[in-house]
Amino acid sequence: MQCNRRIFLQNLTGFAVAVGLGASGKKLLAMNIKGITSGCGNSAIIPRPIQVVIDDVGWWSGRDGSEKDEPYRTGINRNHVVADYQAIIQLGRALGIRPQAAMVLCEWDRENILRDLPESTWMGKEWDNRQWVGPWLEEAADLIRNNPDHFELTLHGIGHEHWTDGRISRAEWSTDDGTMRPVKQVNQHLDYYEKIMRQNQLGSFPLSFVPAAFNHGFGCTGDHSVSLAELLDKKGIDYINTPFYKMQNADEIENGLFGMDAGVLTVNRGTDLQNWDMIGKLPEGELNGPTCGMHWPNILHPDPERNSEIVKGWVAFLKPYNYRYETILAKDSLHFQKQLLHHVSTGIKIEGDMIELDFSETDSLGTDKGRSNLTVKLRNRDQKSFDSETLDILSLEERREKNSILYTLVLRRKKIQDKSFIRFSSLT
Ligand SMILES: [Zn+2]
Repeated sequence: MQCNRRIFLQNLTGFAVAVGLGASGKKLLAMNIKGITSGCGNSAIIPRPIQVVIDDVGWWSGRDGSEKDEPYRTGINRNHVVADYQAIIQLGRALGIRPQAAMVLCEWDRENILRDLPESTWMGKEWDNRQWVGPWLEEAADLIRNNPDHFELTLHGIGHEHWTDGRISRAEWSTDDGTMRPVKQVNQHLDYYEKIMRQNQLGSFPLSFVPAAFNHGFGCTGDHSVSLAELLDKKGIDYINTPFYKMQNADEIENGLFGMDAGVLTVNRGTDLQNWDMIGKLPEGELNGPTCGMHWPNILHPDPERNSEIVKGWVAFLKPYNYRYETILAKDSLHFQKQLLHHVSTGIKIEGDMIELDFSETDSLGTDKGRSNLTVKLRNRDQKSFDSETLDILSLEERREKNSILYTLVLRRKKIQDKSFIRFSSLT
């Protein structure tokens, strides 16, 4: 197994290209999945969870200002409107999920407090946000507050980039090679993010983080004796989502899909399906990892009244991932994290009429997120009933396929022990 994992890691730079795009890619992914098929036509798997993460939510201007040392923003030729928040919630509601909205908040600053943080915006000490203070702030905040099951506010940044005497450089939290900015500055930005959230009553500080421009380092970087994850952890953030192809020290992560940095789960986002500024296009292709990453324009239409056409396209694209044998849509980011740990680290095999789960590796990861629920799928020819002494079966779904039945079991561990078993018996 160790050897297989190493191969998987070595091939990770080809992750997007290989996985899901052809026979060799599927084989590669299969090596990291613990489900195996018995000789009696049964197969079981701990499916790969898929979490929707939408970056750069929060800008009111969509204009790409990078040629004038302003932010890239979302790179579209219109302003953002409240209907663009509705699009995220519509996606969440239609799929029964809670998308992460990775938010940039400088254009939500009602009191121009960012004058005190000159490196955080293109105007520096002259920061003036009056043009974006209006009723739309309250309307969008209302939507966010009233739809907690379909909108998770994730920390992305204040101004997204870094400014020195009005000159832009990438990015807010770390430089292009993933080296963290000075500790004092990082802490100030976290505090000011919280202040702007409070100005707009956007709720409690986020639990999750997507680094601006994906500039990020795993563990300590440069001369720092603390990692960015450690500073985020002090504010309560316990999960980071970022593509490993751009992360400093990514080669320290053996399994290629996640690592623990100062107790903070750091997950590989993989490669997005659409470019960051693509708007009004329906999704196509195949998700290559555990994250359906996108940027805000990707679920929008140039005419905001037609946003739902694009949202419906994403709903139709994502829905089948819930019913496939190999995958499941995560209900929220915590469900996602738990299932991902099990998908990668919990062993599963079928012995006779038993599914055996081996949690020993999961329980040694240094997080307790693997100690509660997980989802298992079982495919077989006959109708079955299930029982277990060591697991609660919280729900059982049955889906008829052409020549088989696909069962989805949501399980809860009754107590922490290395191995658990589920017995399945034929009803016919
Ligand atoms: Zn961004």
